[in-house]
Amino acid sequence: MKKLNMIYEGKAKQLYTCEREDALIIHYKDDATAFNGAKKAQIEHKGMLNNAISTIIFKEMARAGIPTHYLETLNDRDQLCKKVHIIPLEVIVRNVIAGGMSKRLNIPEGTPSPKPIYELCYKNDELGDPLINEDHALALGVVSESELITIKTLTLQINEVLKKLFDQVGILLVDFKIEFGKTPDGKIVLADEISPDTCRFWDKETMMKLDKDRFRRDLGKVEDAYQEILRRLELIKTV
Ligand code: UDP
Repeated sequence: MKKLNMIYEGKAKQLYTCEREDALIIHYKDDATAFNGAKKAQIEHKGMLNNAISTIIFKEMARAGIPTHYLETLNDRDQLCKKVHIIPLEVIVRNVIAGGMSKRLNIPEGTPSPKPIYELCYKNDELGDPLINEDHALALGVVSESELITIKTLTLQINEVLKKLFDQVGILLVDFKIEFGKTPDGKIVLADEISPDTCRFWDKETMMKLDKDRFRRDLGKVEDAYQEILRRLELIKTV
C-alpha cells in the first residue's frame, strides 16, 4: 500500500490517502513538540520507535476486545488505519498524580490516586486544549450523550489493559492521553497513537521517567527511554 496525497500534518505525524477509500496511512515523524508547540526538536528514531510501540499496544487492545482504527503496520514509520472522524477530545486517565494536575492542584508528583481519574480536554490548539467536563463536551456539540458513555467505558477498560501490560515489564503507568474516532457507520473506536509521547511511564524500581517528560524537562537520554519501552514490550511479545 503506497502513500498518495498528504492531507494533514500534525506535530508528530502526517496523514496520507492511499489506494483504499476507507483507510489512511499514518506516517510517524521524529519531530517532538511540547508546551503547545513552544518547544520543538527532533528526537532521533522517535518515529520508528513510536510506530513500533503503538503497533504492539494497538494489537494488545484488539486482543482485549477494544475497537480501534488500527489495520496494519506497513513499514518502519507507516501504519494503515481505518479512516475515521477524530472526535476533538483529549481523553486523559491518571493513576498517579503528575504533570498538569500536580501543578494545578498542588498535589506532589508521584501521589497515587485512590481511583483512576478521568479527564477531558477540548482538542483546540488556539485555546490551549482546555480542561472541560462532559457537559461542556455536549455544549460544544462534539459528541453525543451515548457516545460519552461509550468513550468513558472504553477509556477505563483501556486503562486496565495498559496497566496490566506495563506492570508485567516493571513499568508504572502514571497517566496517558487517548483520542477516539467515529467510523462512517457511527462506531466509536480508539484512534491516534499510544506511545511515550502520550503516556507517562515510570520504571517501578527506580522511578526513572521513560517518556516524553525527558524531553519536556530536559532530562536527557530521550531516545534511550523510548527504546527501553520498546525493548520491554518486545519481551512480552516473545513470551
Ligand atoms: N498528553 C498528551 N498530549 C497533550 C497533553 C497531554 O499526550 O497535548 C499526555 C501526557 O503525555 C500525559 C497525560 O496526557 O501522559 C497527562 O498530561 P498532563 O495533563 O499532565 O499534561 P502536561 O501538563 O504534562 O502537558
